[in-house]
Amino acid sequence: MKIYDYVIIGSGIAGSCIANELKDESLLILEKNPKNAQGASGAAGAFLNPLLGKNNNFKTLVNECLLYANTFYEKLIPESFFKVGVLRIPKNEEERKKFEAFKEENDFDYIPKKDGYFFDVASHVLAVEVCNALIKNIEIKCDYDVKHINFKNELWHINDEIFCKNLILTTGKDCNLFDEKYINIRPVWGEKIDISSTTCIPYNTHKACSVSSSFKVLEEGSYKISIGATHHRFTTYEEEIKYLEELDSFNKTYTHNDTKCLQSSDSVGLLEKANDILPLKDVRILDIKRGARACSFDYLPLIGPVIDSKKTLHSYPYLKKGTKVPSSKFSRYEKLFILNGLGGRGFVMAPYLSKILVDHIKNNTELPNDITLDRLFMRWVRKEK
Ligand SMILES: Cc1cc2nc3c(=O)[nH]c(=O)nc-3n(C[C@H](O)[C@H](O)[C@H](O)COP(=O)(O)OP(=O)(O)OC[C@H]3O[C@@H](n4cnc5c(N)ncnc54)[C@H](O)[C@@H]3O)c2cc1C
Repeated sequence: MKIYDYVIIGSGIAGSCIANELKDESLLILEKNPKNAQGASGAAGAFLNPLLGKNNNFKTLVNECLLYANTFYEKLIPESFFKVGVLRIPKNEEERKKFEAFKEENDFDYIPKKDGYFFDVASHVLAVEVCNALIKNIEIKCDYDVKHINFKNELWHINDEIFCKNLILTTGKDCNLFDEKYINIRPVWGEKIDISSTTCIPYNTHKACSVSSSFKVLEEGSYKISIGATHHRFTTYEEEIKYLEELDSFNKTYTHNDTKCLQSSDSVGLLEKANDILPLKDVRILDIKRGARACSFDYLPLIGPVIDSKKTLHSYPYLKKGTKVPSSKFSRYEKLFILNGLGGRGFVMAPYLSKILVDHIKNNTELPNDITLDRLFMRWVRKEK
């Protein structure tokens, strides 16, 4: 019986970055799709933008992650990394006033340009290529749906046939492998399109949507450009399926020669928004991708060991009455860790968060308090009472 030191479930950008940190260990990645990076990570525009506005913990975290991510991708995958900067154009007068009000609080230098503000710290990566490169030479089992996990005799048992000492869950919107109601991940669906155009754009632009630089010269002498993204919250599972099925029917009828006809309901809106930023000539839609961003209630990520709510409440029932208990006393599942809730900034945050999670697992270093699962647990306890 083979026992892995680490198994990662889910091979999006979160699982891939963690795998890269653990590449010298006995490690297996499990993925239910036929290939890696088919969930949110396969749909992402993968723009790496600074967060602007009023100072707060989330902004500090995102901007620290951005600096780390730029260096990380440039060093590891330079061919899929484009440090081209972004022109941020306020959508309306209200946004412009907001930018002016908080400009002193910007973490990065910018220069006024055209109708907006240019930040050269911003970049763009090729989402799928980056995920592929990060897990190169690492053992992965695709088409493998994890149905259940159990901890017995000091080991995690996955579907009763794969065994490991440490289990790391990076399953994005599908966060249902254990019954912990406090982890309430909500999907925000969206679409990104890749187009060809004879318009050449030197940098990324963001207004009501993001338009990438012309990052690839195509055979016909035109350029490849990514445009993202839309945002949809659905209240029922049926609505989610319908949204995905629209894309399925598009995929089945797609042939390379058809590209002029490709269009989805979202892509029409994306192209209108992109054209409002700059007129794009001779546009053909090359590819349309949809995926679901996994969001927590406060849009902060979830990282670290998983709290066992039943055991914790059994030991400290008065938590429900508001009595404070140090979170170091909460019961946690043995060697079960999570990285999720990366929302719309997974490619910005995953490299740094993976590094600190692996440091935590191996060396017991502290994780930033405001992004562990503790806040979700405490919020749930207060609501449950
Ligand atoms: C349209 C769109 C545009 C975006 N644009 C950007 C952007 O410009 N910049 C940016 O930084 N971020 C962007 N994002 C967000 C980014 O894509 C996500 O934050 C990131 O991909 C999340 O990565 P993940 O690894 O957590 O999840 P995912 O990529 O969803 O990966 C989770 C994986 O787990 C697998 N899995 C789940 N359950 C199981 C199971 N039981 N067994 C086996 N495998 C399982 C899934 O199949 C999936 O492959 C965008 C997202 C979307 C949808």
